[in-house]
Amino acid sequence: MQRRDFLTHAGLGALAGTAALTGCGKKDENAPAQKATASGEVIHWKLVSAAPKNFPGLGTGAENIARYINELSGGRLSVKVYGAGELVPAFETFDAVSRNTAQIGHGGGSYYWKGKHEATQYFTTVPFGLTAQEMNAWLFYGGGLELWQELYAPFNLVPMPGGNSGVQMGGWFNREIRSLADLKGLKMRIPGLGGEVLTRVGVTAVNLPGAELFMALQNGTIDAAEWVAPYNDLAFGFHKVAKYYYAPGWHEPGSTVEAFINKQALDGLPPDLRHIVLNACKLANADMLAEYTARNHASLETLLNQHGVPVRRFPDDVLTALRNTTLQVMEEIAARDPFSRRVHDSLMGFLEQVRGWTDISELAYLIARDGLPGTKGDNA
Ligand code: CA
Repeated sequence: MQRRDFLTHAGLGALAGTAALTGCGKKDENAPAQKATASGEVIHWKLVSAAPKNFPGLGTGAENIARYINELSGGRLSVKVYGAGELVPAFETFDAVSRNTAQIGHGGGSYYWKGKHEATQYFTTVPFGLTAQEMNAWLFYGGGLELWQELYAPFNLVPMPGGNSGVQMGGWFNREIRSLADLKGLKMRIPGLGGEVLTRVGVTAVNLPGAELFMALQNGTIDAAEWVAPYNDLAFGFHKVAKYYYAPGWHEPGSTVEAFINKQALDGLPPDLRHIVLNACKLANADMLAEYTARNHASLETLLNQHGVPVRRFPDDVLTALRNTTLQVMEEIAARDPFSRRVHDSLMGFLEQVRGWTDISELAYLIARDGLPGTKGDNA
């Protein structure tokens, strides 16, 4: 099938809410797996990551999925992990698993695939949207995962949350941001809806894989970049090529790192292995949030105390403007097609419901414990 035909067909399929797709990742490719199961031989799968191999958080998440599957299956299903670029480039993992070149993809965000369908962006995160805790609540108990599965079905993929970064940082800037005007004319790496929002206020938003960001900042191809948070950002050494580190990550308040599995490959497994694969992703989802929560603060201290990085908060009026623009951008996306509307209404409806509880529980507690932000003499 031609690439364009595939995308058109898949896009229309997603719009129509159908699960049928012909022509990609066919059964024949899974015949060896089924045979291997019956004869008790080991099934070998490939996992392609959008992150460099063993990269903190994102890369170890891929390793965790592979390890859990290997351990829980008693070695019956063996998963080999390929880092970004080893088997396919980061931005080709979706198509690679769709056509069963690899059976699992991991390590990026569903928002990488907005060219396939705009609604993909909602399943990573929404600016000023759900926190990690709320995102997991929406996905597993609020109808989010069902919508995500419906969206990926025409691409021959079964999505699962495979990690969560928690609240990210606002990014690295070579210019101080004192007002909205300081954002105008910036060229910034920022994918997803955050990029859409910044485009409206005069930023040129681009997406680049993480491994290319250091060079792009160093040679001035971009003036600013968001990646994740201190644990990952320190590993890439962005403090060597960018001046200011901004908080908060208004654009990614709790990003789901996705896993996706080739549907025929998954269907071709015996039921116990199928459950193991899906639950290994679920375990990795919880693990990653714990890992980020445990590691980010130590890396932040290193950036502050060893490298003297100036950490800044975006001014309140900048955040207010970005929040208003976010609502406009999301309304426009929802208005463009019926499936995006369904996802939008589901997520935003959930946010409206959960907000009251979060404010009286997490927020009220954190203010009681730590005080209001900026009251402890930090340099942010
Ligand atoms: Ca990010």
